[in-house]
Amino acid sequence: MTEENLIETPDVSSFCPKGDVLVIAEQILGELQPVTLELLGAGRILADKMEKNLKCLVIGHNLGDIPQKLIEYGADEVYVAQDEQLANYRTLPYRRVVVDFLESLPEPPHTCLLGSTTTGRDLAPRIAAHFDTGLTADCTELDIGPYEHKSKVDPTKIGLYPNCLYAIRPSFGESLKARILGPWKNPQMATTRPGVMIPLKPDSKRKGTITELKVTFQPDDYRLIVADTVREISKGVKLTEADVIIGGGYGLGSADGFDLLKELASKFENSAIGASRKVVDLGWIPYQHQVGQTGKTVRPKLYIACGISGAIQHRVGMSKSGLIIAINKDADSPIFKFAHHGIVGDIYQIIPEMIKQFEAVQSGQGVKEVVGSH
Ligand SMILES: Cc1cc2nc3c(=O)[nH]c(=O)nc-3n(C[C@H](O)[C@H](O)[C@H](O)COP(=O)(O)OP(=O)(O)OC[C@H]3O[C@@H](n4cnc5c(N)ncnc54)[C@H](O)[C@@H]3O)c2cc1C
Repeated sequence: MTEENLIETPDVSSFCPKGDVLVIAEQILGELQPVTLELLGAGRILADKMEKNLKCLVIGHNLGDIPQKLIEYGADEVYVAQDEQLANYRTLPYRRVVVDFLESLPEPPHTCLLGSTTTGRDLAPRIAAHFDTGLTADCTELDIGPYEHKSKVDPTKIGLYPNCLYAIRPSFGESLKARILGPWKNPQMATTRPGVMIPLKPDSKRKGTITELKVTFQPDDYRLIVADTVREISKGVKLTEADVIIGGGYGLGSADGFDLLKELASKFENSAIGASRKVVDLGWIPYQHQVGQTGKTVRPKLYIACGISGAIQHRVGMSKSGLIIAINKDADSPIFKFAHHGIVGDIYQIIPEMIKQFEAVQSGQGVKEVVGSH
């Protein structure tokens, strides 16, 4: 491309997004949510690519050592908004803090990232609407790159826009990977699902700045009052933090089948039970165990899929697991197309055998002869 055929787009320089990368951190009752660390990992790559800083805004009350932790995980500049009113997430006060912060910056950030969590999904559109900018939800990859726009009037004329945020996410049941570009303005916004991006290794020697923000509210911000918060205490290992997940599907035949999966899970440290949506919809197991498009995205070291057919909506939630072992009695089941190892057979024969083998190995007797499995 020569200089002559570049389109003289009016005020292209003001359209071309500049600035730092901003991550909006998420904490619940002073506990930093893992998605924030993942966003810092992704944000660090984008900021380095543009040779810009990675900012992080954290909002709450009594935040303790969270700001320091954000630096250890990759942030260059941490901004802290603390107030009693911010102890629990509420849309309007949190929106006020983010908008005031962004408007106070000498240069708005190039990119603003949030988690695709209940909070992020509520807050991100409010911010995008305020700044009349674009927002791509549930991204699985992020990148920075140029965009070439061919003139419809004269296709030899090409407008070149550098430093665009490529917000990449699966579309049409993951049959397509869409690269979505927002409007030519700051900030460009995206949310990513928990468990998708990779956090950096924490480095306690990393240097960064911490700035306390002065927060002010308007009477309108208090339209919603949180009278009480009732939290469900989940027992056991969180699905998104488990090293080993034993996933159960309709092939279990009934809710009782999960007892067998729990027994298998108990043979591994840091293990949890996952499930397909079909069995969650049937009420065999609560929603918090659901893996997939409308459930959780998980990335354990080992995923054992038991009686799960491997529908695309399930696959998108677990395909990045380190090792996938599928047990299914149908040799043509789609799950065998992407599992690393497959066992064709009945769960109720295979899993008791697996448990027996684990017990033999754990008791030092070594692997027993296997009869009747494939
Ligand atoms: C918008 C949308 C969103 C969705 N979101 C999700 C989601 O987040 N997560 C999700 O999981 N699904 C989701 N689904 C549903 C998805 O399309 C599938 O219907 C679902 O994943 C199927 O669940 P399953 O594999 O348990 O059941 P099935 O597809 O019925 O598979 C059961 C499998 O068990 C095997 N089997 C049966 N008996 C045995 C046995 N004794 N031993 C061994 N194998 C046996 C069968 O061969 C079969 O392969 C979504 C669907 C839609 C339309």
